[in-house]
Amino acid sequence: QEESQDSAVKEVNVNKNQTLQWKVVTTWPPTLPILMDGVRLLAEQVTTMSQGRLEIEVFGGGELVPPLESFDAVDAGTAGLGHGAAYYWAGKAPAAQFFTAVPFGMNAQQMYAWLFGGGGQELWDETYKDFNLIGLPAGNTGVQMGGWFNREINTLDDFQGLKMRIPGLGGQTIAKVGGSAELIAAGEIYTSLERGVIDASEWVGPYHDQSMGFNKVAQYYYYPGWHEPGSVLERLVNRQAWEALPDDLRMIIQVAAHAQNNWMLSQFDAQNGNSLQELAAGGTDVRQFPDEVMSGLKGAADEVLQEVADTDPMSAKVYESFRKFQVEVASWGNASEKPYYNLIQTEST
Ligand code: CA
Repeated sequence: QEESQDSAVKEVNVNKNQTLQWKVVTTWPPTLPILMDGVRLLAEQVTTMSQGRLEIEVFGGGELVPPLESFDAVDAGTAGLGHGAAYYWAGKAPAAQFFTAVPFGMNAQQMYAWLFGGGGQELWDETYKDFNLIGLPAGNTGVQMGGWFNREINTLDDFQGLKMRIPGLGGQTIAKVGGSAELIAAGEIYTSLERGVIDASEWVGPYHDQSMGFNKVAQYYYYPGWHEPGSVLERLVNRQAWEALPDDLRMIIQVAAHAQNNWMLSQFDAQNGNSLQELAAGGTDVRQFPDEVMSGLKGAADEVLQEVADTDPMSAKVYESFRKFQVEVASWGNASEKPYYNLIQTEST
């Protein structure tokens, strides 16, 4: 009885001719390729698919609110939507970090498997339950690069005293092995490296790093990005505004966010190979981190993750799900992607 009343009321309230105007705020510099392109693409898609019933105005970081105030702006309803990465909100909800990237965690494909098929999204919803927000996966960088260094990294001892721009759990890991993790905004990385304020910095991958010109101020470019093996980007939605939307507009936003996962990851993969070749040809010393360094950082990262879990019950719950899923999904990856990658790598070199 109650259910049929609800749907009757809903039907009356849906005005197919109403035009809604929403804003989207982002954590990205307004001119940042791929990420801002994706935000603009989603706005266009939503407007077109809704036949103009939901129009979205795009604001780059700093254009409506400062980049790292996107969370609060969407929470307060200043903007209906946001785009960024959940690990920026560690100070508000520590468990949010697990939905972007975990050092030595899962890659893009595995993250999506966890989020869409392994209970990850439900935990993301629970993480934000005390906020007026919903977080949805909307884009992925793929495996990032390990970063730009002005000193060689041959052993774990080489991190002693190293000043590196590296956020989040990766930064805590660097601190654990004797370095210091510096918080430096994207726009200041170049001059900080140039002036020796920092010895190293990670950013994204070859395409973005090349466009930032880091090859002019750092000598060594290390891989892989152990700290961000498949960073999931985040579409924030104001919960109250979301709940007031008719079902079709909700589905349009959801499907457009889904499309971002594929579109952004494809753009990164399409550009990074060429940029890496150009960097190497231009004199950048591209190197793989030694195994000994990777296993040392892995041990330090495990300690960091356990500490986060020990101090926050929600993080403990998310970490448990994450870790369990990673082991399970690896058992399949070890018999599928891994041997196949090794096979084609051999044939292409
Ligand atoms: Ca990064």
